Amino acid sequence: MSLLEKKVVVFGYGSQGHAHALNLKDCGFDVSVALREGSVSWDRAEKDGFKVLNLKEGAELADVAMLLVPDENQPELYNRYLKDGLKTGAFLGFAHGFNIHYGQITPREDLNVFMVAPKSPGHKVREKFLEKEGVPALISVYQDPSNVTLQLAKDWAKGVCLNLGVLKTTFKEETETDLFGEQAVLCGGLVELMKAGYETLLKAGYDERLAYFECVHEMKLIVDLVYSKGFAAMRESISNTAEYGDYVTGKKIITKESRENMKETLENIQNGRFAKDFILEGQAGYPILKTMRNRCKEEKIEIIGNQLRDMMSKNR
Ligand code: NDP
Ligand code: MG
Repeated sequence: MSLLEKKVVVFGYGSQGHAHALNLKDCGFDVSVALREGSVSWDRAEKDGFKVLNLKEGAELADVAMLLVPDENQPELYNRYLKDGLKTGAFLGFAHGFNIHYGQITPREDLNVFMVAPKSPGHKVREKFLEKEGVPALISVYQDPSNVTLQLAKDWAKGVCLNLGVLKTTFKEETETDLFGEQAVLCGGLVELMKAGYETLLKAGYDERLAYFECVHEMKLIVDLVYSKGFAAMRESISNTAEYGDYVTGKKIITKESRENMKETLENIQNGRFAKDFILEGQAGYPILKTMRNRCKEEKIEIIGNQLRDMMSKNR
C-alpha cells in the first residue's frame, strides 16, 4: 500500500501545486492535476505533461487528493466537490494546517487526513528538487482510519521535498508557528526592517541606490551565510567592525517593545483572531490585500530596486 499504487490528484497548480505535482511525477508517481473550469493554469499544466481534470472529475479519480488552492478557497472546494465526491477511505492532504486547525473543514470520518508542509515557497520547492537538494518539511496525521496515513505522508514528503529534513508535528503546531513566522519574521518583520533601514538613510540625505544595496540587496548575501552555516560562521565572514556593530546595536533595533508585539502577534494567532480577520478579508473580496498590493508596487523602494536589478543584469 504505497503511494506508488495510488492515483494522486493535486488540486491547484499555483505556487505549491506545480511543485508537488511535478516533483511527484518526476519520481514516477501517477499524478493528475485538477483545476476549475476555465482555469488560467490549465494549458500550463497540460504542457508540463499532466492530465488535467475538472474539480468534480478530480475528486472522483483521487485515491489521494492534495489541496493546493489558497487556504481561503479550500472550504468551498471541499464542501462542493470533495465531501461527496471522494471515494470511501481516500486520502486528503494539506500543505498547511489552517483549515483543519481553525475548524473550516471537517473531513468525513472515513477519510485519511494528512499534511506535508514544505518549509519553503513553492517555486523553491521545485528549484531545490531539480538541484537534488530538497527543502525541509513538516508532516502530520489528523485522521487515520487506514493506519497507513503516516507512511503515505512520509512518501509524499520524500517525493516532493527529498527527505532533506522531515519533522513530525501536529496541525495546531504547524499552523501557529507557520503563521507566526511569516508575520513576525520572514515576511512582515523582514520587509519592515529593510524598509525602515532604507528610509532612515534616505531621510538623512544618502543616495537611494546605496541605501537599497545596503538595506535590501545585501540581506540575501548575509542570510545565505546564516542558511548554510549558522550565525557564528556568518560573523566569521563579516568584518570585526560589522560584528562589533551587530552585537552592540541589534538589541536597540529589536527592542523589548518589538518582542512584546511579537508575543501579541502570537496570541492573536493562538486565539483565532487573525484567522477570523483573514477569512472575513477573503469574504469581502480582499480589500486590504488589493490596496496594499497596488500601493507597494508603486513605492520608491521598488522602483529603485528594479533599476538596480536592471543595471546588474546588463553588467552580468
Ligand atoms: P496559490 O495561490 O499559488 O494557488 C493557486 C492555484 O489555486 C491556482 O491553480 C488557482 O487556479 C487555484 N485556485 C484558486 N482559487 C480556487 C478556487 N476557488 N477553486 C479551485 N481552484 C482555485 O496557492 P499556494 O500554493 O500559495 O497555497 C496552497 C497551499 O499551500 C495553502 O494551503 C498554503 O498555505 C500552502 N503553502 C503555501 C506555501 C507557498 O509557498 N505559497 C508554502 C507552504 C504552504 P487558477 O489556476 O485557475 O487561478
Ligand atoms: Mg510558511
